[in-house]
Amino acid sequence: MPLLSAVVPCFNEEDSLPLFLSELDKVCKKMRDEWPDLSFEAVLVDDGSSDGTLTIMRNAVSNAEYGFHVRWISFSRNFGKEAALYAGLRHSHGDYVATLDADMQDPPSLLPQMYSILQTEDYDNVATRRQDRKGEPPIRSWFAHRFYNLINHISNADIVDGARDFRLMKRPMVDAVLSMCEYNRFSKGIYGWVGFKTKWISYENVDRVAGNTKWSFLKLFAYALDGIVAFSTAPLVLASLIGVLLCVVAFVLVIFIVVRTLMFGDPVAGWPSLICAITFIGGAQLLSVGILGQYLAKTYLETKRRPIYIVRLSSEPENNAQK
Ligand code: UDP
Ligand code: MG
Repeated sequence: MPLLSAVVPCFNEEDSLPLFLSELDKVCKKMRDEWPDLSFEAVLVDDGSSDGTLTIMRNAVSNAEYGFHVRWISFSRNFGKEAALYAGLRHSHGDYVATLDADMQDPPSLLPQMYSILQTEDYDNVATRRQDRKGEPPIRSWFAHRFYNLINHISNADIVDGARDFRLMKRPMVDAVLSMCEYNRFSKGIYGWVGFKTKWISYENVDRVAGNTKWSFLKLFAYALDGIVAFSTAPLVLASLIGVLLCVVAFVLVIFIVVRTLMFGDPVAGWPSLICAITFIGGAQLLSVGILGQYLAKTYLETKRRPIYIVRLSSEPENNAQK
């Protein structure tokens, strides 16, 4: 009997989680009509919420009405969505695993279509992307497009513009994603890196049902930088190239100055140009050291081998305090 797991990261989602669960319930019941031997579980991950999210999860376990079995884990603090997704995948048992947000921006109603694609066509996972970025501030869209453009040029992880974290995967792909146990997780890159055959479907962007987004512009910007550092070493090459370029410029300048002095003597002039050169070279050096520092910092964090998340409580007590 195939099992479908729905992994749901939740951070302060007390308003949207009940709506999400009842929607998922409807979808599961509908799917069971079409595929009678399919069973469902929801793996809810409480990412250190400070509101009533955990209580809702506890109550959901004892709700016999639901067309799915509920399991939950609760982190000891907020570890971020990436950690929550990883934990959810780790704890899921399904032959098929879906990852969706609790705010219904990843409509569960798409699951039947996604499941049917995996049944009838030769794909390992069905991924979703937004048709457009309607309702998003233009400046954010602009940066998002530039980011996808850039990262696809400088890394070999195929990252699709507008891709959401909403996907339905077969177990081998889930295991592949779990085998990448890096600490700095950038899901969009990881999915692209592991490969497998992906079918993309697009849908119109929907607004959150309740609550607020947890992403500010600055947070997104930092996330984009993390993605670049995690999946490309091109910035390091760039730093070296700037260094080489400046050496060439300096070499030409030296020859120019020596020749000029020999031919025309040494008129005392040009401290502004000197300052410009010093500032430019100083800036380029700091930039390169900064880039180096970014990679060093990530390497430092990786080498500590800290757990990606820590479970405080869970619906299966044997999982508690496990990493
Ligand atoms: N989320 C999480 N941990 C965090 C931030 C977000 O588990 O630190 C969850 C959140 O509860 C939601 C999903 O990740 O289910 C997407 O978050 P959000 O809707 O805030 O992001 P957006 O859709 O605006 O990109
Ligand atoms: Mg959202």
